[in-house]
Amino acid sequence: MSSLVASAKSLLLLEFMSAFWLSIKYMVAPKVTINYPYEKGPISPRFRGEHALRRYANGEERCIACKLCEAICPAQAITIEAEPRDDGSRRTTRYDIDMTKCIYCGFCQEACPVDAIVEGPNFEFATETRAELMYDKNKLLANGERWEREIAMNIAADAQYR
Ligand code: SF4
Ligand code: SF4
Repeated sequence: MSSLVASAKSLLLLEFMSAFWLSIKYMVAPKVTINYPYEKGPISPRFRGEHALRRYANGEERCIACKLCEAICPAQAITIEAEPRDDGSRRTTRYDIDMTKCIYCGFCQEACPVDAIVEGPNFEFATETRAELMYDKNKLLANGERWEREIAMNIAADAQYR
């Protein structure tokens, strides 16, 4: 009996028709994939991507060199040196992050009292060499300038939960 059923299925191309119908169905259904890198999916305001150092609107660096981020970093990826300026304010003279050590835990961002060091929305920072992942203060400030708009929007969106 089972061989008769199998023969009938074979004769009527039932399996072929079923596969063909499935293909047609998925051809017109909404796609679950995106055409990266031309299309990108949404990311959460809490996404922890590439680090950035932010400035105030008047251009002054936010970082006051308190070193809380350096102290809390579990990977010991952050190195800060600081000295007082002529006006008595304290600012960093060196702010390095070894991105090869970073585990993207976000503790540095959580510890910062002035929202200076943040993990921004950028996830496209793969490099060809290890040396390119040794970020210095200039690189981090440049990231801050590049991503300030998105970073400020993300901080505002998450403010009520902090
Ligand atoms: S995200 Fe975590 S591991 Fe990376 S620098 Fe900040 S505190 Fe360190
Ligand atoms: S980034 Fe924030 S936590 Fe780190 S030294 Fe500067 S002010 Fe302090």
